[in-house]
Amino acid sequence: MRLVLVGPPGAGKGTQAEQMAKRLDVPHISTGDLFRANLRDETELGLEAKRYMDAGNLVPDEVTVGMVRDRLREPDTEKGFILDGFPRTTAQAAALGDILDAQGLGLDAVVQFEIDDEEVVQRLLGRGRSDDNEDTIRNRQRVYREETAPLLDYYRDRLVTIDAVGEIEEITERVFSALQTRSA
Ligand code: AMP
Repeated sequence: MRLVLVGPPGAGKGTQAEQMAKRLDVPHISTGDLFRANLRDETELGLEAKRYMDAGNLVPDEVTVGMVRDRLREPDTEKGFILDGFPRTTAQAAALGDILDAQGLGLDAVVQFEIDDEEVVQRLLGRGRSDDNEDTIRNRQRVYREETAPLLDYYRDRLVTIDAVGEIEEITERVFSALQTRSA
């Protein structure tokens, strides 16, 4: 299965992506994790991404798309993948479409995690990541609304919407039952 997960910061996409990847036996590809790994290794890409990440802004599309294109060339993606945090702009979505088209592939579904902004601020402040201070969180929420939310319309024919409030296992079940209903 080839899936994309979309949702505001703190909606639990990463946690759900892990659960889903385990169950589907496909890699979990998080662009945020890839950037953080580059930052840890002090690569050029990581250093370039840092100032955007620190401010809660998006890393430029060409940098992000190049990184994802490379990752999707790895053989473990042949059985499918779960993209978490990519695409985040319609330009990234179009680029992903081109990458997949070139291999005669497409996305099976785009899973949207729905949650209220106020609900997540508290959740994120408890996570302790360096870009999880309140100003950066509010900016990431604004960036989501302005730059990422248009994807919901872009992907409307493949969209599966999940209520992201609840226990982890409960939400995972919602996702799989919604995907099943959709493919039935
Ligand atoms: P995340 O772990 O998904 O919350 O991502 C952390 C940060 O990495 C974001 O605030 C952005 O600065 C950057 N980032 C992650 N994914 C993308 C993307 N698809 N496009 C641009 N920037 C991204």
